[in-house]
Amino acid sequence: MQALVVDDSAVYRKLIGDQLRSWDFEVTLAKDGAEAQRILDKPNAPKLVLLDWVLPDMDGTDLCKCIRAAESGTYVYVILLTSKEGRQNMLEAMQAGADDYLVKPFDELELKARLLVGKRILDLQEQLISARESMRHAATHDGLTGLMNRGEIINMLERELERAQRERKPVGVILADVDHFKNVNDTLGHLFGDEALREIGRRLREQLRIYDGVGRYGGEEFLLVLPNCDLPNTILRAKELCEVISNPPVNHSGSQQTITMSMGVAVSEANAKNQPDILLNHADIALYAAKENGRNCVESYSGSPKKAPLPRRK
Ligand code: GH3
Ligand code: MG
Ligand code: MG
Repeated sequence: MQALVVDDSAVYRKLIGDQLRSWDFEVTLAKDGAEAQRILDKPNAPKLVLLDWVLPDMDGTDLCKCIRAAESGTYVYVILLTSKEGRQNMLEAMQAGADDYLVKPFDELELKARLLVGKRILDLQEQLISARESMRHAATHDGLTGLMNRGEIINMLERELERAQRERKPVGVILADVDHFKNVNDTLGHLFGDEALREIGRRLREQLRIYDGVGRYGGEEFLLVLPNCDLPNTILRAKELCEVISNPPVNHSGSQQTITMSMGVAVSEANAKNQPDILLNHADIALYAAKENGRNCVESYSGSPKKAPLPRRK
């Protein structure tokens, strides 16, 4: 664990630094508040700080307040060091955000005990953060394919449509549905079907640019959001994706099967306010047309009244 020792006395810096190193801490030293702040502002800064009360440029309590004000997500555990006369100010130190204090000159074992408490709290904090991260991931991603789930890809579409409106750029969407997937399950089994969906997810993701998004929209339906992609380019991308899905066949547990997808393409209007549900409806109408046209192909929403009233597919 990394620790930062802030003390204007070179003797104390060395004393505490050496002691901490002997207990396997990685130690950074700072001689005043400004230097400490620079160190704490960096990425991966130490999370455990031993802070002298009296510093040449500011009070340790002021630095403590700055640390608390700047905190972003991860906690910094602060132990304030003070001389005997400073003891009556301890309440002030705690109110400023210190977690603990030590009176100088301090006993080596006492220092070790305080550090152990700090380390335990920081370890707990790390566990909490990683638990929160995995819950957040589980709530926004699909368990089978690891892609964004329906809610998350729609969130992305909403965000991209807002941005596109500001920047007067288009957003392309592709709604892709596996062809005759029920047959795949019926003939090769549900486990093969699951593996086919995972493989489709991998192939779609591999084809995307860094700022594109793909999510599992429903059972065997995927939604792709392509920022700044106009109609001809979105159609082109969809055709490439169809090829990548259909070749090579999916292999799993000794079975092999060519999988194909039909895709419906719609693109937002660069100069208009675009509603996500309208765009999705247009992509759905185009997907329906692709199924009607024999599957394993791409159709785009033309906006023609002839296509518009088609019912939503089951
Ligand atoms: P179409 O070409 O018209 O889309 O035909 P289809 O058979 O793909 O369409 P249909 O809607 O009749 O069937 C979809 C199938 O997808 C039925 C369902 O069991 C299967 N499916 C949905 N989610 C999963 C899943 O997570 N795993 C597996 N193995 N199958 C799934
Ligand atoms: Mg299908
Ligand atoms: Mg379907």
